[in-house]
Formats: sequence, structure tokens, C-alpha cells
Amino acid sequence: AHLARIEAVDGKVHAFLHVNAEGALAQARAVDARRAGGERLGPLAGVPLALKDVFATRDMPTTCGSKVLDGWVPPYDATLTRRLREAGVVILGKTNMDEFAMGSSTENSAYGPTGNPWDLSRIPGGSGGGSAAALAAFQAPLAIGTDTGGSIRLPAALTGTVGVKPTYGAVSRYGLVAYSSSLDQGGPCARTVLDAALLHEAIAGHDPLDSTSIDAPVPPVVAAAGAEEIRGVRVGVVKELAGEGYQAGVERRFGEAVELLTALGAEVVEVSCPSFDDALAAYYLIAPSEASSNLARFDAMRYGLRVGDDGARSADEVMALTREAGFGAEVKRRIMLGTYALSSGYYDAYYGSAQKVRTLIARDFDAAFARVDVLVSPTTPTTAFPLGERVDDPVAMYLADLCTIPANLAGNAVMSLPCGLAPEDDLPVGMQIFAPPMADDRLYRVGAVLE
Ligand code: GLN
Repeated sequence: AHLARIEAVDGKVHAFLHVNAEGALAQARAVDARRAGGERLGPLAGVPLALKDVFATRDMPTTCGSKVLDGWVPPYDATLTRRLREAGVVILGKTNMDEFAMGSSTENSAYGPTGNPWDLSRIPGGSGGGSAAALAAFQAPLAIGTDTGGSIRLPAALTGTVGVKPTYGAVSRYGLVAYSSSLDQGGPCARTVLDAALLHEAIAGHDPLDSTSIDAPVPPVVAAAGAEEIRGVRVGVVKELAGEGYQAGVERRFGEAVELLTALGAEVVEVSCPSFDDALAAYYLIAPSEASSNLARFDAMRYGLRVGDDGARSADEVMALTREAGFGAEVKRRIMLGTYALSSGYYDAYYGSAQKVRTLIARDFDAAFARVDVLVSPTTPTTAFPLGERVDDPVAMYLADLCTIPANLAGNAVMSLPCGLAPEDDLPVGMQIFAPPMADDRLYRVGAVLE
């Protein structure tokens, strides 16, 4: 049924870069056979899923939305891919994304943009717009995203779905093509909090193949998603994530959600995190710095595209021609920004300062979590904007990440969930719930009651 739905609507939505029709049916039959053989399977066995095209899959191409990896089929599975297969999850295909996960609208994909199923003339958010759109268009009940600066949560908010960035280190990065390694985190996308929790438990857990993977039990997120009340839970509303630049309907729906929390017996207070004002600037130095280093591996020798290899050119020339042809404008911008920020003479002023801001942000979170159990804010200042509106204005595009970035810099667990439609445009509004590292279950407890 999901393959038929993809066939019917994906010509318009363009959520998928690759549809795994044959493979998905074979996986589904294999699950049936395991079950017929008496095997006791987990809750996600046979459930279809849309996988962001940034995770290595040995039976499907992995492009990261880039021409530089056009046609590349990895020789191995990411740990996350392997865990999905072991759980009996059926992988429907690979979803569209901003090139190398750099973007907030999915318009930086080398394979064309994805439409927002609520209004196809608008963006679905990015970078994981394909995964979120697939959920909103009922092409898949579950999806996977990655969140370096909001790429799970922003698309969730703009498509009226649920997206979770687990604690940094909770989900293995082995086989996740690196953008900014100290920030990247895979996580679950779904239409309900409980579905997200089931997927969270299937993909999280220690992995010796990832040196930043946390060796500790996964917080009990499925049990938490069964919560029915939040009496006495202390909730902090982040003062800095509101005000100028926030759409009236976003503030209104978020305000109503806060009132609901109070009505349900939560203790709501205002909390100030003053360093959050500098988060965007710090992020747009740190993420491009790491990207400039990580993307050096696309050297025309090891993977995918190779341009100008006519036997007369040097390896350096082939590398330059390939990178020139294979990378899009935003990826090149980030490589240049990052190389500049890391260069000797500028390193302390840019990269070094950004790292100090990062520490201040983590301290703001620590101080806040000494007073409250969770923090809340809108996920993004506005609802989905029209396709094309911000493509020529990178700074306007980066502003969509204003509320999502602090949690990546600090490594916290954070969820975006729907909180109604903005009255002025009838488009989905999202709110965030933040919890301290390894307290991911709190997101699900509060989210389940708000849903
Ligand atoms: N929009 C942010 C960026 O372009 C976040 C991307 C992400 O989380 N992958 O860097």
C-alpha cells in the first residue's frame, strides 16, 4: 500500500531519491517467513520506513543529495541501517535532502527540491525535507533523519510531524556520511510520539564502531511515551527564543501549548539562556569548519564522480575539476567559510571563539536544568515559506535554525512536535521540548501528554 501511495503522489512531492520497490517487498516477505517460522519479532517488524539518503545502505545508492556521489552504492551498511534490518523494518527507499545535509529547505539538493505536502509551493524544511514530507504525505509511517543543527526538527515542525534529536552519542554515526561530526546525530521521525519512541529504541544503543557512542542503557522512551499525566513536572520557557521575527501565529499556538501544560499541572516558569543569542553565529563557524575537513574525502579517487580523467591530467587537476563539478554552491560556500575560519591567523578569532560560545551555551543549559526538568520553545520562528523565497539569501535561510541550534551545540536531547496550525496561513506550527543529555525519556513523557 505504501509503495502504491509513493507511486501515486511522489511525482508531485518528490520525497524520494530512490524507491526500493523490489527490495522492500522481499524484506516484507522475509519478515512474514520469520514470523511463520515461529520467530518472536519486535514491534516494528514489517513496518515500512523512509531512510534519509545520508546513511550507507549496501543494496541502494547513497548520494547525500550530491552529484559527487551520484550512483555510489556503499559496500557496507551503516549501524543504523543494520539495526533497522534486524528489527524487521522494511526500507521503502532513500529520501531527498539538502546536499550533505547543508540547508534548511531541501532546496540545496542536487536532484531538485521536495514540496511540502500541506502546500506544494512551499518548502518542507531541511535538510531532511524528504523524510518529513514522506510522513506528511502518508508515503511512510516512519522515517529517519539526521540533526546537525535542526534537520530533523525543522522539517518535523513545518510538516506537522514528530521528530527527535536524541542525545549526542545515543545513536551510532557509523556509516552516517559526516557533515559536522561533533554535532551530527541520527534520530526518529514519525507521525506520533509513540511511533517515534518505538523507532528510537530500535536504533539507539552503544556501538563500538563509533568512538563517540555512549556506552550506557537507552533511556526508557517507549514506557515514557505511555505517560498520561505530567503533574509536578517543572517546565522552563526559554525567554530568548521569542519576540522580534517570530510569526504571530507561531507565538500564539506555542503560548496555548504552554497554557495547556499549566492546566495539566506542570509548574511553568520563565528561564533565561542569554548565550543562545550567539548560538547561530557560533554554529555557522563550527559546522562549516568541520565540514571543510570532512568533505576533503571527496577527492575523485575514492567514491562516485570523477571528471577530467583523460590520462593527460594530474591527480590534483582531476580532483579540482571533480569538486568544481560535483559540489553545489552552498557546499562550496561552507568549505570556503570553514577553511577560512580554521586558517592560521584566523583560527583563534573565529573557530576558537565559537568553541568558547559553545561552552557558554552548554552552561546555560546546565543552569536551566538545575531548576527545571524540561525546557520548551517554538521549533522555528515561522511556518513553511514559499519555495525559492530564501535561496539567494543564505543568512535569511540560516535564521530558520535560530531555535534548533543550541541543543546541537550542547548535545542535549530534543523533540519537535506539532502544536496546531497558524491562524494566518493554516500551516503547521512546531514546538520543541528539550531535556538534559541521556534524559531522552522526558521528551516522550511530556510529548505524549501534549499530543
Ligand atoms: N540548516 C542547518 C545547516 O544547514 C542544519 C543542517 C542539519 O541539521 N543537517 O547546517
